[in-house]
Amino acid sequence: MKNLIKFLSGLVMMVVIGLILTTCDEGSGNPACTHDWGEFVKISDPSFISRGIETASCKVTGCIATKNNYFGEQQKIMNNSDWNAARALITKAGEYTLVIGSNFSVSGSTAFTFGSITNISVTILGNNYTMTLSSVGNMLRINANQTVTMDDLKFAGFTSNNASVVDVQNNNVTFIMKGNSSISGNTRSSSSTWGVGGWFCSGVLFNSTDGTFIMQDNASISNNIMNMTIGNYEPPMVSIVYCAGGVHIQRGNFIMRNNTSIFGNIINCSRAPDSGSLIGGGVVLYSGTFRFIGGIIYGNDASPSSLRNTTNFGSAAFARQGTATYGGVNGTSFNLASSSNTISVP
Ligand SMILES: [Zn+2]
Repeated sequence: MKNLIKFLSGLVMMVVIGLILTTCDEGSGNPACTHDWGEFVKISDPSFISRGIETASCKVTGCIATKNNYFGEQQKIMNNSDWNAARALITKAGEYTLVIGSNFSVSGSTAFTFGSITNISVTILGNNYTMTLSSVGNMLRINANQTVTMDDLKFAGFTSNNASVVDVQNNNVTFIMKGNSSISGNTRSSSSTWGVGGWFCSGVLFNSTDGTFIMQDNASISNNIMNMTIGNYEPPMVSIVYCAGGVHIQRGNFIMRNNTSIFGNIINCSRAPDSGSLIGGGVVLYSGTFRFIGGIIYGNDASPSSLRNTTNFGSAAFARQGTATYGGVNGTSFNLASSSNTISVP
């Protein structure tokens, strides 16, 4: 009996202590234990990845509650050095939003844009501004386990480039173009000197096992040029190149939906490659999947002719490997190589 009373009173004490510790919780409705906030102390100024943060501690004895407040506006990226500074702030896993506040030029690079940091999701809010490449290299090079979203952001390429505007490499990358995002105006020249060439693309080169590239809303890829020089070689060597003006899917999944478009991308080949090569003005699907749910890819029959994705050898609009379907999740299979004409899904 004594033990039971001891046990019960101990239990009561624990409940009372528990109540004291929790009564200062916000919204407890206990006026005797309302938080009494001290002064806000600044933790960090507004930066390229966050608004400013300040914090206040509760002054009630025994209460350890704090509350954060955001102040000021997140800094907008106005030029190349801001862009570099913003990227340098992304040092660990998490979700980030970068805000573009002006048109500006960016130096091309073949380094990964966000290094090798994994499990980051970076949304670049473009506000319909244009970032223009001012030297050879990629605008964006995305590494394994990274998600990058272009939102109302326009990329203009470099007119004497040796690289694609966007280059995606390694596993499990998600790359999304949404809103009015566009990639245009890149001219890449590359050569395959002794035949077996590898893959070349001027717009978006996507090479990510288990990765996904999504174009949605009004996103477009246009007017990118691939000048391909195929060198001399002696049989039995063959010239096999995989070459795309707009989009090349080496590995991974490609989804087009809504009012997306791919137009005006051009391949100029110095000579006809051997059979087995894939030459596609608009899209080359080397492996993986292509789900064409909505949008338009212009071919040889487009008018005006400036809309056409064209090549001087091979398919104007596409080449085929992997699996292509259109018309939704359970869409109909179609043969990308079967037509050089415009294809569209309303
Ligand atoms: Zn408190």
